[in-house]
Amino acid sequence: METDAIVLDSNDHGESDVIVTLFAQHEGRVKAIAKGARKSLRRFVNKLEPFSFLHVVCRRKSPDALAFLAEAELHSAFFNIRNDLELYTVASVIQEFLLIAIKDEQPDERIFRLSLWSLHHLDRQHTPRAVLALFLIRFFEYLGYRPDLEHCGGCRRAVTATAQCHFHPEWGALVCSHCRSAATVTTPLSPGTVKVLRVAQHLPLERLDRLRLSGPMLQEALTMLHNYGRNLFQRDIVSWRQLRRAPRHSAKPAAADDHAYQPDPAPTRALTIKENLI
Ligand SMILES: [Zn+2]
Repeated sequence: METDAIVLDSNDHGESDVIVTLFAQHEGRVKAIAKGARKSLRRFVNKLEPFSFLHVVCRRKSPDALAFLAEAELHSAFFNIRNDLELYTVASVIQEFLLIAIKDEQPDERIFRLSLWSLHHLDRQHTPRAVLALFLIRFFEYLGYRPDLEHCGGCRRAVTATAQCHFHPEWGALVCSHCRSAATVTTPLSPGTVKVLRVAQHLPLERLDRLRLSGPMLQEALTMLHNYGRNLFQRDIVSWRQLRRAPRHSAKPAAADDHAYQPDPAPTRALTIKENLI
C-alpha cells in the first residue's frame, strides 16, 4: 500500500517501535507499526507525530495483520500547530472527531481533503476556532448528517432566519416557533449565525477560508456544533474541555481580498454565549 496519509495518533511500542494510526487517503483508518522508529532517526525523525501529513509505504502479511510502515516521506509537519497551544488544542478536537468517525477500509476523499484544509489553515494561524467551526459543519455533512439549517425538524416547514432561531441537536435541524414547545433542549442561534453557517454549507472548500466567523456568532456556532456532535456520537468530546481553557489568538485583520460576510441583522448582546458553554 502506498498512499498519502495524516497521522492521527502515535504511541511508543516496546523499546524501539512506534505504532501510528493513520488516516490514509485511499484506505481510511490504518494502524501500522514503525519498527525501530525510535532508533532510526534518519527514516522517521519528526514524521510520526500527530497531524503530520505523509506519503507512506505500508506492507501487510495478511489482511488482518498489523501493517508494517516501511517508508514515510514528510509532505508537511505543520510545525506551527505543534508549537502553539491554541492551534494544538483546536487540532486535537479535529483529531478526536476523526478518530471517532474514520473506520478501517472506509476511505473518504472529502473528509480527507477537509482535514488537510483544516490543518493547513490552522498552521497558517487563521482564527483557529473559526477553522474548527467550518471543519465541523462540513464534516457532519460528509458523514451523512448535514445539519438542516433551512427547515424545522419537527414539521419540515422552511425556517426564515429573520428572528431568533433555535437548533435541536437530536433532530439535527432548526426548530420553528410552532414546534418550540415540543422541543426540550435547543441551542439558540441568532439569524446572522444561521445565515453564515448556511453559506459555509454551500461554499466550495477552496473558498471556505474567505468566510469570516468571529465573536458571538462564532461562539454560538461552536456551541451548536459541539452539542450536535455529542448527540450524534453519543459521547463526550474530551478535548473540548481543553479548548475552553486554551488561550485565544486575537483575530487577524482581514486581507484585502477577503470577502467579509456581513450578516444582517448582527447578533445582539443578549445572544452572547458564555465562555463555559462552548
Ligand atoms: Zn416546526
